Amino acid sequence: RRDKAEAYLAKPAVTRAGTTVRVQVNIADPSEVDGIDIATCDGVGLMRTEFLFGKAPPDEETQYRAYRKVLEWAGEKPVTIRTVDAGGDKPVPGFTVEESNPFLGLRGIRLSLARPDVFRVQIRALLRAAVHGNLKVMFPMIAVTEEYQRAAALFAEEQAGLIARGIAQKMPPLGIMVEVPSVAIAPDAFADVAFFSIGSNDLTQYVMAAARDNAAVAHLNSVRHPAVLRLIAAVTAFGLRAKIPVSLCGDAGGDPASIPALLEAGLRDLSVAPAQLAMAKAAISDVAV
Ligand code: PEP
Ligand code: MG
Repeated sequence: RRDKAEAYLAKPAVTRAGTTVRVQVNIADPSEVDGIDIATCDGVGLMRTEFLFGKAPPDEETQYRAYRKVLEWAGEKPVTIRTVDAGGDKPVPGFTVEESNPFLGLRGIRLSLARPDVFRVQIRALLRAAVHGNLKVMFPMIAVTEEYQRAAALFAEEQAGLIARGIAQKMPPLGIMVEVPSVAIAPDAFADVAFFSIGSNDLTQYVMAAARDNAAVAHLNSVRHPAVLRLIAAVTAFGLRAKIPVSLCGDAGGDPASIPALLEAGLRDLSVAPAQLAMAKAAISDVAV
């Protein structure tokens, strides 16, 4: 099956009905792009930055170089970099805090807004890297509009600071992850964001109340549960009405067993692990939407 799938790598992903599906890749370590032919994908749908934060928050130059490397590799294709989603299943020593319930705690954008000293460094690195390619930036774990507005305001403040110092910069489109049920249920509150990216890993665990890292409840943790699929379909339909692009970057996007349901829910834009790229494209070619 894998050999046959490899043949799909070089071609755009098209369903049996002739519908084109955009397929991007998820990366974490910037060096991952050295092993990917940019011609085989539509860009980077999710660059997780927690990897860079490994043992401690990295300085601005280290981040700038990492983001720039990926942007230059992608050329004109889009690269969506997510601001740090520390906490939950992704602790960062010296940054995340001890909590009794980390998945419901100070995680993602919540922690970044609580630690503007750390967040501003990442924002400056992103604004500077943006001149080297087609950058989009998204915020993880958004639950309420105020979080998006405060994050966007920090971007505007840091941009003004860079301009005042004569440093090259560019404001990227700012979007949000849809992975907290409050956003998936009422996406109309976010009509002014540039794009939505559905995080099905977290959305599923929060809708089903089944931790993504607990094998004992894995049978409940299914993106194909009708409750999850209904939310995905509603967010996708809202995006079409409001002219806000909607993609999905959770692991389900690369899972051949889930791809038919995701396309039936209306999605036409998936971002998958590089190792899943060929299989995902092959699975898409079998779907009748
Ligand atoms: C998700 O939650 O689906 C997602 C893509 O983000 P992460 O797995 O990094 O939490
Ligand atoms: Mg997530």
